[in-house]
Amino acid sequence: MTDKKWNAYVAYAVEQLKEIEAIPSPTGYTREAAEYVCNQFMSLGYEAHITNKGGVIVTLNQADQSADEVINNGLLLEAHVDTLGGMVCEIKDNGRLRLSPLGGLNPNNAETENVTIITKFDGEYEGTFQLDNASIHVNGEYNDIKRAWDKMEVVIDEDVNSKEDTKKLGISVGDIVAFDPRTRVTESGYIKSRFLDDKLSVAILLAYAKYLKDENVTLERSLYAHITVYEEVGHGGCSSVPEDVVEAISVDMGCAGGEMTCTEKQVSICAKDSGGPYSYDVVTGLIEAAREAKADYAVDVYPHYGSDVEATLGAGYDLRHGLIGAGVYASHGYERSHIDGVKNVLKLLIAYIK
Ligand SMILES: [Zn+2]
Repeated sequence: MTDKKWNAYVAYAVEQLKEIEAIPSPTGYTREAAEYVCNQFMSLGYEAHITNKGGVIVTLNQADQSADEVINNGLLLEAHVDTLGGMVCEIKDNGRLRLSPLGGLNPNNAETENVTIITKFDGEYEGTFQLDNASIHVNGEYNDIKRAWDKMEVVIDEDVNSKEDTKKLGISVGDIVAFDPRTRVTESGYIKSRFLDDKLSVAILLAYAKYLKDENVTLERSLYAHITVYEEVGHGGCSSVPEDVVEAISVDMGCAGGEMTCTEKQVSICAKDSGGPYSYDVVTGLIEAAREAKADYAVDVYPHYGSDVEATLGAGYDLRHGLIGAGVYASHGYERSHIDGVKNVLKLLIAYIK
């Protein structure tokens, strides 16, 4: 493929990323983001639908079913559109909000972030996630307090001084709180945002789907995508595996930093994570495909990680599994990746899926 074409697919992925990042989707509140993604796949010309659970199933290719002997060789790609976030668990006497985390959001990483409080019936309000008594000129213990959820609060940007004031706004326990993603793409190609895990992969799968259509690629095997929800709480990939699927690959953030060899410019192939080793044959095949495509790749063992496809296996499906993704630094915080990472994931998908 020409450089111009590669750049166009990568640019499309980045544009989709910005759109998806702009739709808040903390785990448990993903309808709007899922509908957006579903519509994008449909507008590319694919059959797609939203599952009962709220994920999106897309048929990217249906293998020829007319053959005498139908060979089941389907592949499922999984990426998740749900993110970390918070839920109001208490309205404090001073009118501010205590949060319970949605997924593994770390208060250190979320401190001072702008948030949107999404009420069920009374619209949205802005606020900031702060340490209790956050004025360093007033609070002598500011530096010594361990940031924990019960030591943090949302300061609502409305004139509220009591529990009653806040309730009058329509804010209730159970309301969703979305953190500002602060998405930026630098001149040098770095992509910075919260929730690149895993909205970047959703955007990459859209670009891959566009590539398949635009280049009239014919595949021999059935190919599906499941844009999951509830990944951040562990059961995203538990359901909705099409019947002829024998293999599933999570496209999720690749780990970068520490002893990982992967950088943000590479595609990471995970050999093992907290859930154990990935399918030997799938990992080997991915490495072979990366070599063939001259994709810049790294193979790593992730020390603290679980994936959608492990949830699929845990749910009892009989399939081979793999995990790939663009390298993402500062995961679950203010994350960073690079357009070269996007390109290398696309290269690997194109080479692996025939
Ligand atoms: Zn993820």
